[in-house]
Amino acid sequence: MRIYISADMEGTAGVCSWDQVDARNYTPDYFIYQKIMTAEVCAAIEGARKGGARDFTINDSHGPMRNLLLDELPETARVIFGNRKPFSMNEGLNGEFDGVFFTGYHGAIGEPNATLCHTYTPSVVYGVRLNGMRCSEATLNAALAGHCGVPVLLITGDRATIETAKAQMPWITGVVVKESIGNYAVDSLSPQAAQDAIRDGAAQAMRSIKDAKPFVAEPPIVLEIDLARIEQADWVALIPQFERTAPRTVRFTSEDYPTVFKAFVAAFRMGAVADARA
Ligand SMILES: [Zn+2]
Repeated sequence: MRIYISADMEGTAGVCSWDQVDARNYTPDYFIYQKIMTAEVCAAIEGARKGGARDFTINDSHGPMRNLLLDELPETARVIFGNRKPFSMNEGLNGEFDGVFFTGYHGAIGEPNATLCHTYTPSVVYGVRLNGMRCSEATLNAALAGHCGVPVLLITGDRATIETAKAQMPWITGVVVKESIGNYAVDSLSPQAAQDAIRDGAAQAMRSIKDAKPFVAEPPIVLEIDLARIEQADWVALIPQFERTAPRTVRFTSEDYPTVFKAFVAAFRMGAVADARA
């Protein structure tokens, strides 16, 4: 069986500050959590192997998307590395996989008690809905897997992340590695205990694969984005087929989820450009 792993970092055991996951400024803390993030991905692979999975593709999905310590990954795993990928946290995901794992995931922007909560670009995206459903990154990414007919099997992160994902996809095996105390503090398992729990969770997720379902956004698919600032809405509304429905809200509708997802990526990148001084 083939497993696709989208590996984020904010949901790693112990992480409670942007300094710990800052892959651009390379704070001393970053190197500690880069190693723990990699070890959590390795634990997920070990557990999945026990459950019968043999092929793994890992998509580095955090920040500049070059965080994983490649020489610590199993030699049989392929790695998608680097930024500006058209499908971002889902690059390389297709219908040839049997299941998807989300490791190191975090809560949606606005989620209480979800450390470092955000949805893609927090300086741009204030909220996202798909067919009226409030979205985390897990929701948006699961819908792309669902379009390919592939179910999400495992998610790891803090309790809020796991509980909100399970409310939308009850078949997922969730591994809670920490309890968030607001946005910048956690009560965490030790890294070793978190990795043991992830290994067990991944094996359990493989045993539960028969109960898992692709998470499908039913067409017509309506994507709504609340932008953080008015000038970002000014710019995103220029993208063809985006309608402005409120001063800071835009809407995009399509029958095809990959088109919706690419429109979302285009919107948050356009919003980031609007940050430049006029
Ligand atoms: Zn991240």
